[in-house]
Amino acid sequence: MRALLLTSALAVAELSSADPLPAHARAVADYDIHVRLDAEAKTLAGQERITWRNTGSEPVTELWFHLYLNAFQNSESTFFKESGGQLRGDRMPDEGWGFVEVKSARRADGVDLAPGGSFEHPDDDNAADRTVWRLPLPAPVPAGGELVLDVEFEAKLPRVFARTGYFRDYFLVGQWFPKLGVYEPAGTRGRAGSGWNCHQFHANSEFYADFGRYRVEITLPQRFVVGATGRRSERRENPDGTATHVYEQADVIDFAWTASPRFLEVGTRFSADGDVTPQEYAEVAAQLGRSLDEVRLSDVDVTVLLQPEHRAQSERHLRAAKAAIKWFGLWYGRYPYPTLTIVDPAFGARGSGGMEYPTFITAGTSVLFNRWPFDRMLLPEGVIVHEFGHQYWQSMVASNEFEESWLDEGFNSYSTGRVMQLVYGPWMLQAFGLRLGGLEAAQLSNSVERMFDRVRTPAWGFSSSGNYGFNSYARTELTLRTLEALAGPQTVARAMRTYHERFRFGHPSSDDFYAVVSEVAGRDMSGFFAQTIERPGILDYEVSLVRSEQVDEPRGVFGAGAARTGVTKKQAREKERQAEAAGERPWRSTVMVRRRGEVALPVSLRLEYEGGARQTLALVEREREGASVEQAGILADARASEPWRGRFKRLELTSERRLVSATVDPEEHLKLDVNRLNNARRVTPDGRASARWGSRFVFWLQQILALSGV
Ligand SMILES: [Zn+2]
Repeated sequence: MRALLLTSALAVAELSSADPLPAHARAVADYDIHVRLDAEAKTLAGQERITWRNTGSEPVTELWFHLYLNAFQNSESTFFKESGGQLRGDRMPDEGWGFVEVKSARRADGVDLAPGGSFEHPDDDNAADRTVWRLPLPAPVPAGGELVLDVEFEAKLPRVFARTGYFRDYFLVGQWFPKLGVYEPAGTRGRAGSGWNCHQFHANSEFYADFGRYRVEITLPQRFVVGATGRRSERRENPDGTATHVYEQADVIDFAWTASPRFLEVGTRFSADGDVTPQEYAEVAAQLGRSLDEVRLSDVDVTVLLQPEHRAQSERHLRAAKAAIKWFGLWYGRYPYPTLTIVDPAFGARGSGGMEYPTFITAGTSVLFNRWPFDRMLLPEGVIVHEFGHQYWQSMVASNEFEESWLDEGFNSYSTGRVMQLVYGPWMLQAFGLRLGGLEAAQLSNSVERMFDRVRTPAWGFSSSGNYGFNSYARTELTLRTLEALAGPQTVARAMRTYHERFRFGHPSSDDFYAVVSEVAGRDMSGFFAQTIERPGILDYEVSLVRSEQVDEPRGVFGAGAARTGVTKKQAREKERQAEAAGERPWRSTVMVRRRGEVALPVSLRLEYEGGARQTLALVEREREGASVEQAGILADARASEPWRGRFKRLELTSERRLVSATVDPEEHLKLDVNRLNNARRVTPDGRASARWGSRFVFWLQQILALSGV
């Protein structure tokens, strides 16, 4: 049913528009907010008018809200318990608590519904957590109907250590207003019935929201420089010494803002004509199979709110922002908003760095990066490109980061890695003769310790925060890189583009992505994702044995009766000498490839012979062995690997030349391989003799031990 609906929706889209990128989101939740900052008390007083539309086919009898500042309320919140009061190396400061309280929630008729509200904890049994609030409605909102609610709230900002709050007179105000969860009509992300999806605030996840139009009036002392989601439409000074800044933006899922009197405001304009060459447009259009119009970008005003001590890095920040707008836009679809604001957090408020909100991101740098050798380390650039990437893989394609963080963080790690490599070269870090690339860093974080978790896991459900990080970021990047090698870079580029176009301003699930990849590839790719995303396990192929020896002439007694003949050892040796002199004595080689991990993918084996001759075989753990990797496709299921004897494959080969070495995955296609050191093995010069000696020695040792009764 769902597939049918999708197909007919696509048919309509094709008929009605040449551009597959939707111009606007369906406005589900609009917010008109007036907020006043008390810069001394670090408090907010706000009123918001929420207009919510029921896009489902059933009446809705309650609303679910995020009250996320309550994550910072005390040591009993789920966030605090999960994080242990520290995140990304920063500790919760003493007495830096923050919270938000709904004072009233009135319908148009003035009736206050707030007294009927209750705190819910759908993810754990933590009754002390107050980050999710359920508000029953006296009258249901009918299917297709609309509800207007006036909410009055007060908040105390936490002292910044994670994501949001204040440090002296620097404010980063995120997750601050009572905000609706996502009402998912049946069929959304594969769910059977309709209902709210509204998770608690966790150490590792915080985003899943619906699209709408935001208009926010921020009032605070006039000395503050302000930045926020969207475009500033007005700034007016009030008689009481405050100023009111008005920001507006449609088609977004959230709103954040910042204020500090110290910000140095630098800006530039990304130009669709000036920053992209005609050749770049043409190349991307050809790779993606799209028209030039479809890949065409639009102009963006970029503002960086820098700390003054980072003035020397302003060009670095602007260049990274432009690179991100350009390449994400070319690959996945143009950035549709007129502004991008980048905040450089104050020293002492690093915890608010590296965050993403619609059209508004926070960077992260230090005075260290002003100077050699740190000026050659691309961490500030990497953070900007990554946080910008969330515009694509969280804000526009609004996947559920709580339940499927890989669709957000992982897609972003993969995309960021590609932008960084293209614009800055392969090395993220270069100093004192050492170099480290982003991809190498991801590979280095892979190990057999990663075998326990599956990628598609709720963010709070991993075996450790390290395994949350690896699976959500690096493992996804390595998986998509592996897919590039197996399905071809063009297929993956087109699949990512199609997925973004189809789900821009939507809420896709992992299954939606698998379906797009199969559709674009023209074959069922679900087996690849079943192994790499849906099931735990690691990928590790090894060459465990390489042996090569000359073929001996037969000796002994042959035939029967009168025809019986004998070949002595001496005669056999003589024949061998003659064959060798004539260059006709063949070599017999044995190679064993073993799969140490659970993941089975097509892999090639390169054999290298004396004199430099090479041979590459495709090894597929199924009936189509011998086909090339491209032809063989992706295994439907690792369990279909029985034609190998279990998880190993022994090859017996006869050749004119001696085999020197064997290498599994010589092209390094399988970026997910946890151990590349075991991928190649050389024939030891006298392997047979030493093996015999070895086994004889072990035999005698065993005999001696047995006799001595040890
Ligand atoms: Zn991220």
